[in-house]
Amino acid sequence: MSERTVAAIATPLGEGGISVIRISGTEAIKVADRCFKSFSGKKLCELCGYHALYGNITDGDCSVLDDAVALVFRAPKSYTGEDVVEISVHGGRIVTRQVLRRVLECGAAAAAGGEFTKRAFLNGKLDLTKAESVMALISAQNESAVKISRGAREGRISRDTEGILDKLLETAASLAAFADYPDEDIPGLSPQNFCALLNECKNKCEKLLSTYDAGRIVCEGVNCAIVGKPNVGKSTLMNMLCGSERSIVTDIAGTTRDVIETTVSVGDITLNLADTAGIRTTSDTVEQFGVDRAVKKIDDAQLLLAVFDCSESIDDDDRRLIENIRSKKCIVVLNKTDLPEKTDRSAFVGLETVEISAKNGLGYTELCDKINRICSVRMLSPDDTVLINERQRDCVYRALEAINSAIEAIESGITLDAVGTCVDDAVAALLELTGKRVTNEVCDEIFKRFCVGK
Ligand code: GDP
Repeated sequence: MSERTVAAIATPLGEGGISVIRISGTEAIKVADRCFKSFSGKKLCELCGYHALYGNITDGDCSVLDDAVALVFRAPKSYTGEDVVEISVHGGRIVTRQVLRRVLECGAAAAAGGEFTKRAFLNGKLDLTKAESVMALISAQNESAVKISRGAREGRISRDTEGILDKLLETAASLAAFADYPDEDIPGLSPQNFCALLNECKNKCEKLLSTYDAGRIVCEGVNCAIVGKPNVGKSTLMNMLCGSERSIVTDIAGTTRDVIETTVSVGDITLNLADTAGIRTTSDTVEQFGVDRAVKKIDDAQLLLAVFDCSESIDDDDRRLIENIRSKKCIVVLNKTDLPEKTDRSAFVGLETVEISAKNGLGYTELCDKINRICSVRMLSPDDTVLINERQRDCVYRALEAINSAIEAIESGITLDAVGTCVDDAVAALLELTGKRVTNEVCDEIFKRFCVGK
């Protein structure tokens, strides 16, 4: 348990019904009693957990800052596992800040970002994957992301990891017994059985990893850039996908001079869409700036929609673009199919193409189907356990690598000591995932990303 008693504003700063100032630590109730005077005359230290009092928060000169409800949680039955007081005052930047300042004057220290959740982790209230799910839940941008972080909060990742750890520890124990009694014929102790156990672990790790990419796509969306020469209909396509006039459409080439960005849902996929400046050779400095940014967007994009005007013949700028996109995940969008065709389709051989008329909304369904087909790594089912960040993926990946090395070692007849070392590495990676064996540096790094008050 930490020595310092800390406090922070736990709700967003702004105008609202109430704001909550949270105090946590061994002195939390004493600190609150110094600045909170209940109307009944009762003190917070007289309350048992989950009880509240109504009264005033008073300043050093006994003037009233606001009326407030103070709710007491007794250790270990609180979010942090320590004594906690949550003071609810009227929502408003100034009042809330004044009350926090008063609480700090009364003996609390200002909490760092994520300090309450870090204390909950250090006090064994939640493991690292559950702590991370709190952050994921707060920053979730859509309902699917909420569902995924809720799954982690309920302990799905911990449960699956424990399952793999049990099997690995069983393997380690069997390996040790086999090493101690090599000549005994003990049932279950054979290299074949070790391999079988390790293969079960391998499959479970692979299953966990397979959901990661799909989870990222669901939570964060796919970075998608619309590219093409000026005037081919990129802005019209952007507006068709958005269902609104997000980009300016004119027939003057070079109108979109910078990158316009928005987020749209296309079937099951969220696209972080960027309508780029038309890519062409130009002597206009301002247009060139947009073209440079467009080229950068192409590099960063996970999906390109490369637009071509069917009513024009292919020129050198088009040919350059076709070469640039060949190595990318890309859909060639042949636009203006309502006009007589002049394009030589053989230029697009080997690329995914779809025909549309962005102006008339034709081909919208076909384009959406193709985007979903190309982007869906694998559809998630409601029962899937989904890893929620790169740290978690890295831990499982390292565990899988170690398990693979252990299987290879057994198959190639290397001494069982080497197998044992690989199994230990896999166990270490998974203990790091749940936080059971994690360095202070990793722990600090994780909680640093949390907001103050959480
Ligand atoms: P951008 O420079 O590539 O963004 O092109 P815009 O979206 O600004 O469109 C350039 C011109 O092409 C505008 O006059 C649009 O109305 C027109 N346009 C766009 N899509 C179509 C289409 O499907 N059919 C026809 N006939 N015209 C289109």
